[in-house]
Amino acid sequence: MTEPTPLIATPEHTVEGFVREYLRELNFAQGTILERASVNDHYLALARTVRHYLMARWITTTTEHYRRQPKAVAYLSAEYLLGRQLDNALVAADLEDIAAEALASLGIDLADLREAEVEPGLGNGGLGRLAACFIDSLATMSVPAIGYGIRYEYGIFRQTFVDGRQVEKPDEWLVGGAPWEFAHPEHEVTVGFGGHTERYVDGEGDDAVERTRWVPGWKVLGVPYNYMVPGYRNGRVNTLRLWSSRATHAFDLKIFNHGDYAEAVRSRTFAENISKVLYPEDSTPQGKELRLQQQYFFVACSLRDFINQLLPEDFDLHDLPERICFQLNDTHPVIAVPELMRILVDEEGFDWDEAWEVTRRCFAYTCHTLLPEALEVWPVDVLGRLLPRHLEIIYRINDEFLARVREHSGDDELLVRRMSIIAEHPARSVRMAHLATVAATKVNGVAELHSQLLRDKVLADFARFWPEKFTNVTNGVTPRRFVRLANPGLSGLITEAIGEGWVTDLDRLRDLEPLADDAEFRRRFREVKDANKHRLVDLLARRDGIEIDPGTMLDVMVKRLHEYKRQTLKILHVITLYDRIVSGEVAVEDLVPRTVVFGAKAAPGYVMAKEIIALINHVGAVVGAHPEVSKVLRVAFPANYNVTVAETLVPAADLSEQISLAGKEASGTGNMKFALNGALTIGTDDGANVEIRQLVGDDHFFLFGLTEPEAAAMQEAGYRPSSYYEKNRSLRRALDLVAHGEFSGGNRSTFEPVVSNLLGEDRFMVLADFQSYLDAQERVEAAYRDPDAWSRSAVLNVARSGFFSSDRSMRDYMDRIWHAEVLPPL
Ligand SMILES: *Cc1c(COP(=O)(O)O)cnc(C)c1O
Repeated sequence: MTEPTPLIATPEHTVEGFVREYLRELNFAQGTILERASVNDHYLALARTVRHYLMARWITTTTEHYRRQPKAVAYLSAEYLLGRQLDNALVAADLEDIAAEALASLGIDLADLREAEVEPGLGNGGLGRLAACFIDSLATMSVPAIGYGIRYEYGIFRQTFVDGRQVEKPDEWLVGGAPWEFAHPEHEVTVGFGGHTERYVDGEGDDAVERTRWVPGWKVLGVPYNYMVPGYRNGRVNTLRLWSSRATHAFDLKIFNHGDYAEAVRSRTFAENISKVLYPEDSTPQGKELRLQQQYFFVACSLRDFINQLLPEDFDLHDLPERICFQLNDTHPVIAVPELMRILVDEEGFDWDEAWEVTRRCFAYTCHTLLPEALEVWPVDVLGRLLPRHLEIIYRINDEFLARVREHSGDDELLVRRMSIIAEHPARSVRMAHLATVAATKVNGVAELHSQLLRDKVLADFARFWPEKFTNVTNGVTPRRFVRLANPGLSGLITEAIGEGWVTDLDRLRDLEPLADDAEFRRRFREVKDANKHRLVDLLARRDGIEIDPGTMLDVMVKRLHEYKRQTLKILHVITLYDRIVSGEVAVEDLVPRTVVFGAKAAPGYVMAKEIIALINHVGAVVGAHPEVSKVLRVAFPANYNVTVAETLVPAADLSEQISLAGKEASGTGNMKFALNGALTIGTDDGANVEIRQLVGDDHFFLFGLTEPEAAAMQEAGYRPSSYYEKNRSLRRALDLVAHGEFSGGNRSTFEPVVSNLLGEDRFMVLADFQSYLDAQERVEAAYRDPDAWSRSAVLNVARSGFFSSDRSMRDYMDRIWHAEVLPPL
């Protein structure tokens, strides 16, 4: 390789240097001048200026990856819930102060420009946010890694409320211009769909072998868009490569030549539909064909891209496992397994066993759920129509796998049926989790309890068959975004106390422990919390017209709306407090004033979830309108909870609600964000709550509810929710209030479905845990009355939560699964 041309110098890391670059962008790229520029002009100029500071690092990192050919990681994820890019880039490049000062010198407020950015909401919730945290950590740890995904034109819908009910609006995140992306149409990839397969004889005489080729019925193009993933002040910038679908040029022409212009344009729409919109279901996939198209589209592009662009031309694909691990973020990208087999067998001429040996060493699979309805399954007729060759390959993988199961089990046909990649009922279909498990070198759950339940329940047969395949990597969150950037006050306090190393070495937070006993430190800690509450007050007033009192306890439950997460349990608690005040059972003076904050989107087709949203809003309205109750209790439900809101909400919280039924939440990551920002958790023994409680200690965590074995046993024995209604007076009164129309203007039918669901099936055992939850909330109240003890616990939560850095998660993946290399420091 010839020496690369030297790079143009990075702009000077000074206020003057920044101003110069900024004005150049405003003039030359935006084509405007300071006096005329709109806020969006300013934002775009600023984004591009910051980009310039990162560009040399990006080019150097990419070049080094290519030259060194280290063992790398490709994270395959259908979702990346990135959050705003500007603040993150400023922090990573150490430009916050310089940018603020430079802009101020031009009469511009940096804060206003931050507000101009629409966050890329290319994910639903925890799973997509996890992917975003992981790529941040990988860049910060100098791991050669690339994220692959989909550039949805419309991300997660924008939530609005009309009469308290959720109404979805399209998320037009690209309309203002997308300054963080770099389109590379010259690296477009062609992806086939449909058609049929053919056998043919390749070679002659003794060399002749029968091969298969796939003749797709139609093709689309994938255009890569690159995003910078800056490491935190380590000189590295990794890449996130998102694919956008386009019509093929040839396809257009063929129809065009028939003279049907309108049809040619329509066919474009078909192709471009693939990356049009993110499916808004979280944990409940709908099995829509377009979703499978999206999945195949992005993994086919990604594998092709990795092989063609990131490996040397003469690379021997037999060595692929030495060069890459493809991490499957849930089952969404699992179709990559038969795709790699197809490439190796049909295109590269590998024989089957050779190809399987390579393929099974290239993939690892992360399972994210325990809910059966979240496990993806594709009917074979859908999959076979869309990807006929892949279905053949899946059948063969299954045949060979089941032969081994038979051999090992002495033809236990019941076991064979349970483990088969193909389900026969209710319709013949492909179980993507089984395919992933069969193919992967490692299968991991996302918290200790979850991994245990995967081994014991969800994938028990597989865990017996391949015990060494199963491992755990507890999730984490990036301390850059969720502490350093979201909580500047706390960050400053921590840095002052223990130095700044914690941002990339979060275990150092342990050094704060002694300060929990330092009254002055606790006072300053409370001051920070207070300032954060005021920040939230401002945001909610400005953004939602919601007024909250920063002098109250901030009790926060933010996460997707799902029955298993049990927002209903929280609202029943609110209703009970309301009832006790209204009925005169407790005096207002005897309660700790609280503001209960909800944030949650419901999948648009999830009727019960949307009813629960309406109930929360209606209860909130009645509570807020009551002259006595509203003195000590308010409900705030800002619409459109997203990463940007989380960044202001989490640092302000006193109490973190993590109240899923034990055994249902795989890990949770919201729970980690709150603990790291000094909120105390009220939670069940579920997901990573278990580990949070073990680390922070029982005295600093409000545990309640059934354990997983208890809940399972109770279900086994025949759970009867109505028995709790009958014997628990508070519960009965709360449910009766809802049923009698207290929160629906006297209309008894409005929330009837919610009530009858709880009294009938109550699949997630809200009623069984109700009393235990009330008791735990009493303990919360008692604890909160002692500000010194509370803030001592809060400081200890921060000090003992360093484990939940996604840097630690990445180390675990590196040690247990990837064994990738790390680039030397610059
Ligand atoms: C962290 C995060 C989540 C995940 O929250 P859980 O409580 O773990 O479900 C969802 N949405 C957003 C915007 C987040 O930042």
